[in-house]
Amino acid sequence: MTKRALITGITGQDGAYLSQWLLGKGYEVHGVIRRSSHRGVEDHRLRWLGIADKVHLHDGDLGDLSSLLRIVQDTGPDEIYNLAAQSFVASSWRQPVLTANITAVGVTNMLEAMRIEAPRARFYQASSSEMFGLIQEPMQRETTPFYPRSPYAAAKLYGHWITVNYRESFGLHASSGILFNHESPLRGIEFVTRKVSDAVARIKLGLSRELRLGNIDAKRDWGHARDYVRAMWLMLQQEKPDDYVVATGVTTTVRDMCRIAFGHVGLEMEKYVVIDPAFYRPAEVDVLLGDATKARARLGWAPETDLNALITEMVDADVERIKREARC
Ligand code: GDP
Repeated sequence: MTKRALITGITGQDGAYLSQWLLGKGYEVHGVIRRSSHRGVEDHRLRWLGIADKVHLHDGDLGDLSSLLRIVQDTGPDEIYNLAAQSFVASSWRQPVLTANITAVGVTNMLEAMRIEAPRARFYQASSSEMFGLIQEPMQRETTPFYPRSPYAAAKLYGHWITVNYRESFGLHASSGILFNHESPLRGIEFVTRKVSDAVARIKLGLSRELRLGNIDAKRDWGHARDYVRAMWLMLQQEKPDDYVVATGVTTTVRDMCRIAFGHVGLEMEKYVVIDPAFYRPAEVDVLLGDATKARARLGWAPETDLNALITEMVDADVERIKREARC
């Protein structure tokens, strides 16, 4: 029997890599797509991976329970991956109510749709290391207390606990993956790794002369999205639902991540990086460092790509993309 998966946020970075992984496993892949007025651009990541015509897209929105009920009824999924969110931390201060409606209450909408229409399906919630915020332990694991530092993190915390609650209240197979930052050439341009790889490519090609950044002393535990979607899938293959931290166990400053990117194309970052307080946040998460011992032991999961390989892949992809756009 072919397994069916339903993914919210299928047009995002993780949705695209997860679709690719599931298609490789023989799944029929369905996704929820929020139609915008910019028709035809929503699926650019799926096109980049060459899988846009292999997935089935359904119009819907995490804020619209009736659309989710209809989609779950129509598709009859075995597995549901809830990846959709307002996912950019900095924007969450500018749109705190939207962030709460989608990133927090949207999770309840998806869980309700599953509870009513497909209670035997397995559910994955995309929780976030941002929930640890002002860290309470040097290495964050499943038992580390949370301390959110942004409207985004507060909303993700609700999504995490409502997932745990539906598991305990209704016996749903609902798991929560507390994923640390994960990046790739498909990362949105507003996130710092991709902002850096894009700028480095432009500077190298003579199209730009500076890169304006905020707090480059912040430290993150960065992994590759391709590795992390594998962990999502593994969680839903377990007999029992549970919560797992997914991380590399290495933390690096934004400054040193930048140095890798500039160094890869033979440039010195000091000549190009300008600190711009406009990119400082009202409250910062200074450092994140994950302990994925449980995922390694129970899921047999381990990351395959280190930061150096990740950042050089991203810079190379941006150089190629910008050259291609220049030819058009
Ligand atoms: P986040 O961990 O989900 O907030 O991921 P981001 O990639 O957006 O930010 C990672 C860290 O980089 C945060 O501590 C930011 O404050 C820091 N940072 C420094 N300069 C910038 C910038 O220009 N853009 C972004 N997005 N982050 C920056």
